Amino acid sequence: MNHFISKDGELFCEQVAVAEIACQVGTPVYIYSKATLTRHFQAFDEAFASIRHLTCFAVKACSNIAILNLFAGLGGGSDIVSGGELYRALRAGVDPRRIIYSGVGKTEAELRYALESNILLFNVESAQELERLQQVARSMGVAAPVSFRINPDVDPHTHAYISTGLAKNKFGIPIAEALALYIQAEGMEHIAVQGVSCHIGSQLTLIAPFIEALYKLKLFVKKLADSGIVIQYIDLGGGVGITYNDEQPPHPQEYGEAIIKELQGVDATIIFEPGRVLVGNAGILVTEVQYTKTNQGLEAAKKFVVVDAAMNDLTRPSLYGAYHAIAPVRATAAALEVVDIVGPICETGDFLAKDRALPAVAQGDLLAVMSAGAYGFSMSSNYNSRPRVAEVLVDGNQYHIIRQRESLADLINGEQIP
Ligand SMILES: *Cc1c(COP(=O)(O)O)cnc(C)c1O
Repeated sequence: MNHFISKDGELFCEQVAVAEIACQVGTPVYIYSKATLTRHFQAFDEAFASIRHLTCFAVKACSNIAILNLFAGLGGGSDIVSGGELYRALRAGVDPRRIIYSGVGKTEAELRYALESNILLFNVESAQELERLQQVARSMGVAAPVSFRINPDVDPHTHAYISTGLAKNKFGIPIAEALALYIQAEGMEHIAVQGVSCHIGSQLTLIAPFIEALYKLKLFVKKLADSGIVIQYIDLGGGVGITYNDEQPPHPQEYGEAIIKELQGVDATIIFEPGRVLVGNAGILVTEVQYTKTNQGLEAAKKFVVVDAAMNDLTRPSLYGAYHAIAPVRATAAALEVVDIVGPICETGDFLAKDRALPAVAQGDLLAVMSAGAYGFSMSSNYNSRPRVAEVLVDGNQYHIIRQRESLADLINGEQIP
């Protein structure tokens, strides 16, 4: 459920006409709905109301400080994967005691920054990272709070690029090797072992892989206890999918019930790291048609709609072949035609949709790329020297620019001719 709704053929975000924002702020523009973000956070968080838990939004899904601040105000924390995300979370007002740090490649400087910031937990992903963390903590005279990220070797049945919990993926520590590492860590003066974590992938539409991973984690926690290692946190990662097209992901309530059932008898605080499920359907990308053209080939003619948004603004279609629904901001009665919706970038891979049935559009028409709130702006770049677009947050009948469109001067900021 989200608050992007058509009224009399005109697309609204809450009570604001999308065309009005496009007119005032320009295109392309990302538009988020505060009511939808709030609703999604609460639906997820309330699914676990009956257990001790912490919901840490995965910052990389949508990193704007206004969004991080919104979730912090609802009681959420942050799951970060870089020093940059730590900076954002702190600047957004997220309580450091609700920040957890994941990722396979944390640098010494990043570890130091996170220790200085007094974050809740490091999800350590290798023996060498543990060693480095111990050294940095020793140099600061502190003990680093640690969970190990276990790779449970579970198939999440999702796109290969976003599966992370299989033995062949780079993430985590094989479950068979983890016990030895826990025992080693217990003996380290500047490491405080506190938890166990896993994150098996993204855009999961089945509950079973989550339960399988949790089951393996539970067995492992029992093994730890048998070795005298008692942990306080179990982190189940993120990964709950959303509907882009015809997927039928579990409702948070259903996911919550299944997890809580599997957790019976477990005494720990459960951490979640949802990203996509909180923000994906709470944001759209609005783009304006620049040109339409038809390339007459040997076979059928191919129709293109060239828009002002491109793969640098929304990379998911190019990177994963991902599907996003695309609709005119103002409905028309025009006949459907099958088109490729493409951007201005000099790459054949620059498309938002291929072979898509769309009502015939003309220069100047606005299109809404739906479900673009997750891994949309946060994955955008300046490729082809395109300024990154503006982000807008709608709240009822008001809207706020939460990130200015970049200027041409921004493009060369920091560059120098020697
Ligand atoms: C990306 C990521 C998440 C969030 O995944 P979603 O599919 O967006 O929920 C959570 N935890 C870790 C460690 C991640 O890398």
